[in-house]
Amino acid sequence: MPSELRKDPLSQRWVIIAADRAKRLSDFELEAAPDAPLFDPFIPGNEDKTPPEITAYRKAGTAPNTAGWRVRVMPNKFPVLGIEGKLNPRGDGIYDHMYGIGAHEVIVDTPKCVRSITALNDLEVQDIIWMYRDRLIDLRKDSRLKYGMIFKNVGSAAGATVYHSHSQLIVTPIVPRAIMQKMDACEEFFKYRGRCLICDMVAQELEQARRVILDSEHFAAFEPYAPRTPFETWIIPKIHETHFEDLRQPACEDLAFTLRRTLALLEKGLGQLAYNYMFFTAPFNCGPLPHFHWHIEIIPRMTKLAGFEWGTGFYINPVPPEEAADFLRGLRIVEPPAAVRAAAASTVPAATATTAVPASPAAQVTGAAAVPGAKDKDVGGQGARAS
Ligand SMILES: [Zn+2]
Repeated sequence: MPSELRKDPLSQRWVIIAADRAKRLSDFELEAAPDAPLFDPFIPGNEDKTPPEITAYRKAGTAPNTAGWRVRVMPNKFPVLGIEGKLNPRGDGIYDHMYGIGAHEVIVDTPKCVRSITALNDLEVQDIIWMYRDRLIDLRKDSRLKYGMIFKNVGSAAGATVYHSHSQLIVTPIVPRAIMQKMDACEEFFKYRGRCLICDMVAQELEQARRVILDSEHFAAFEPYAPRTPFETWIIPKIHETHFEDLRQPACEDLAFTLRRTLALLEKGLGQLAYNYMFFTAPFNCGPLPHFHWHIEIIPRMTKLAGFEWGTGFYINPVPPEEAADFLRGLRIVEPPAAVRAAAASTVPAATATTAVPASPAAQVTGAAAVPGAKDKDVGGQGARAS
């Protein structure tokens, strides 16, 4: 198959699907599974090794900065932006600058020393997602701040420096360019067609079912039409919503299932890969918009950027997303035992504990493996060795 240029309508980015360079999975340089560290700053009992916590979901009666927490948030020890001070925006000839005001927080996903949230159960992942929501709702009250990006780095190739599963939140005093570009593209589409680009994308992906890997009650997970990297995967709510932080409990339950299972499929197929995920929500200071729709992007870090990518902004991807989706749909995942999930019911935050978690969300995973190199292992228990 000759290579193909494809344009992503959301980022307006072009990629080159270079299928004649297609690799077998064994040709990718995947990161070797690391061992759990000898010293873990995020394990219960080491609370004094981190900055004091901002908030935590914790057992009633336990004090801040002690054990007893399920998800714990603290300022980053080496923040890229600080919360104190004024922005003081000003010019220097043709250049603009301002003080580095914002927030940089670390969200420790779990007290367990595991590398990835695939080692947790759905209720534990719900806690993490609900904490993301709580932090954005809190920080958006600060009128100096414009945008909050929740993200996760897993593995050193993805920028992680700590093994223990954690997420980060950076809140900036300006709306980042990548967000503005997406919002502009969505607004253009809306002006032209009178519909939300991302709603249309989800509808088309589900209808065509060529790149879909998971279709749950509230979310669709699929390989985007123009992925930057092999196995880039997006998770998008099926119902139009502008801000992630407006997420409600039933959708939170389903998102925990969808996110954990999607990552488990990637890890089952590709090993303990390095990856990033990012939550793209709308800026703080806008209300609900008919044209912007929050979403999650997962980027496996299997390829490296070289001169052509830096120079042009094009990405070269040797794996067509249709083949990646076929491969992922063909994998079978062993779920954690139901007893483990039931035992974890008490970990749901107080605000969410009134709603029962469905034992089996209405999700479909269908299809057959098409890419060679699949490994047959139990994803449900992956990473548990380190706990
Ligand atoms: Zn929409």
